[in-house]
Amino acid sequence: MSTGHLTIDLAALAANWRSLNALTSCETAAVVKADAYGLGSDRVAKTLAKQGVRTFYVAMAEEGAAIRAAVGDKAQIRVLTGHMRGDTDIIADLKLTPILNSLDQIKRHFEALPDTPFGLQLDTGMNRLGLEWDDWAAVAEQALRRKPVVVMSHLACADEPDHPMNPYQLDVFHQMTDGITTPRSLAATGGMLLGPEYHFDECRPGIGLYGGLPFADARPVVRLDLPVVQIRDLTAGEVVGYGNSWQAERATRLATVAAGYADGLHRALSRGAMLWHGSTPCPLVGRISMDAITVDITDLREDPASLAILCAEQPVDRLAQNGSTIGYEILTSLGNRYSRRYVG
Ligand SMILES: *Cc1c(COP(=O)(O)O)cnc(C)c1O
Repeated sequence: MSTGHLTIDLAALAANWRSLNALTSCETAAVVKADAYGLGSDRVAKTLAKQGVRTFYVAMAEEGAAIRAAVGDKAQIRVLTGHMRGDTDIIADLKLTPILNSLDQIKRHFEALPDTPFGLQLDTGMNRLGLEWDDWAAVAEQALRRKPVVVMSHLACADEPDHPMNPYQLDVFHQMTDGITTPRSLAATGGMLLGPEYHFDECRPGIGLYGGLPFADARPVVRLDLPVVQIRDLTAGEVVGYGNSWQAERATRLATVAAGYADGLHRALSRGAMLWHGSTPCPLVGRISMDAITVDITDLREDPASLAILCAEQPVDRLAQNGSTIGYEILTSLGNRYSRRYVG
């Protein structure tokens, strides 16, 4: 078999949820959008439900189907993009809870599904999703009378604890919501780590569950092993790969492993990345191509059968640094050619 092997540690996922939950005295929901950040929403949602998670967030209504099938009727599944045109049937059929973001969405929801639960999102400065101050002022009384399940907002810079945007958005959220009796939610993973004043009635972590920063204490959840297809010896001066972008400065033993940018390992990661044989790093050399990556294994004492590109030594954020990206993007790009194994 020449596909990469993706191992997903459900015990680590559960432990990460428990660690984050232990930081708060409020409810801790789980964000499982984008197929649970690429790790498989069915297994992830089932594992988290067993830990006691009762509220799940997806981005799009369609994503709610897999979560509903995984966790049954009792859990609440909230849709962050709200009630879009064409979503009425799926919201009703799957008993989803849209988080309404605009006056248009509020009108659509109240007209189409007046008795279906909903939440509201307010914009506190990120300017991405949610009602702006004027719209909120116009609609708050009417909307709150219908008892939304949550009033939430989202922090733009929570991964930078000292960023002035954090206390600014906290202050705006207070000004927009103090005095209401509806449960409030502001914090995702980053916000949870900023301290209890950011927690309100519910936190909604995503990336921290899956082992990513800014939750530095997270246990890694994914491991990715790539099988070695071929090994060869180069003399000093020989070149490797497309564009001859790497040249051997010494006699080099070179392994080619089976994975590439078609599997979500973007070409931008080519510079400076390592693959690991146990605890020994081996430099990635040349360009990542569609289905193959070349690795300098000269310093290994034995020929490896496979090399790891995600492992305890190189978690998602460490790999991401090489390509000036983030752990989120590494996870959600994980390809569908890998064989997947769930452990724990
Ligand atoms: C994605 C998302 C989250 C989860 O964020 P993480 O940084 O992954 O913890 C929470 N709330 C909203 C509105 C989101 O879009």
